[in-house]
Amino acid sequence: MKLIHSSNKLSEAIADFRLKGLSIGFVPTMGFLHQGHISLIRKAREENNKVVVSIFVNPMQFGPNEDFKKYPRDIKRDLTLIGTEGVDIVFQPAAASFYHKGFQSFVDIEVFGNVMCGLYRPGHFKGVCTVCTKLFNLVRPDRAYFGQKDYQQALIIKQIAADLNMGIKIKIMPIIREKDGLAMSSRNIYLNKKERQNALLIFKSLCLAKELIRSGERRTARIRKIIKNVFSKIDDIRIDYIVVADADNLKEEKSISSKKILVAIAAWIGNTRLIDNIIIKHGQGLRLS
Ligand code: AMP
Repeated sequence: MKLIHSSNKLSEAIADFRLKGLSIGFVPTMGFLHQGHISLIRKAREENNKVVVSIFVNPMQFGPNEDFKKYPRDIKRDLTLIGTEGVDIVFQPAAASFYHKGFQSFVDIEVFGNVMCGLYRPGHFKGVCTVCTKLFNLVRPDRAYFGQKDYQQALIIKQIAADLNMGIKIKIMPIIREKDGLAMSSRNIYLNKKERQNALLIFKSLCLAKELIRSGERRTARIRKIIKNVFSKIDDIRIDYIVVADADNLKEEKSISSKKILVAIAAWIGNTRLIDNIIIKHGQGLRLS
């Protein structure tokens, strides 16, 4: 496993892979890795000759009052964790060289970027689209792997890859959870014991939404209200959004008729903002899975 910091060195290594006709799987991350990241790496390993992982806390996708500075970073720990996963290259650029002096080009998205997290984190998806485009141009992967945990982000990357003819297959992988259901996230480290307990409500309310939809409820306002009620019993939680939408286009109707329903929540547990979601697919009749 090679650790590379410079874009030029990365390009050289990639050119060598390409020359040899090897396929490349790419897993972009912000580090402080956990089993969610590992699941993406394992899939990339399975489907490609070479695997590249990037570790970069991208300043461009953080707002001025967000947690860029305190975001957990531990490259030693990350390298140890993925050391046995068959990763070929870890790319860890320095922000100052990655966004060179005079940098002024951006990639952004409209419709999918103007809902959910886009409303609460202005500029976030512009930062995500720009960094992913830069990384894609360097790594030139055949396939790139994203987690359903950040479903809106994954859908956005899929869209820009198609819109801008990037020629990369974007794969969206399932959410890896702790035993009790909490979605794994690098930010879970911020939670104290009580907050960790409260955070469980996010997954529990997603399960409740699933049950409601399974039993035939389609009124999105009603589903949102029931979830809000669950949260209202706990002091230290503030909801940014609860969305019940068509999972393919993120559209919220009064009554949801889609065959693939996304229920997504963003909530503050104390000072930590967590997101999670569930996708409910259903085939014929009312049988939902
Ligand atoms: P991050 O380092 O948080 O930017 O995440 C890097 C990639 O890992 C993104 O595609 C995330 O969606 C994905 N990811 C993060 N948490 C999980 C999880 N619990 N399960 C699956 N994928 C995840």
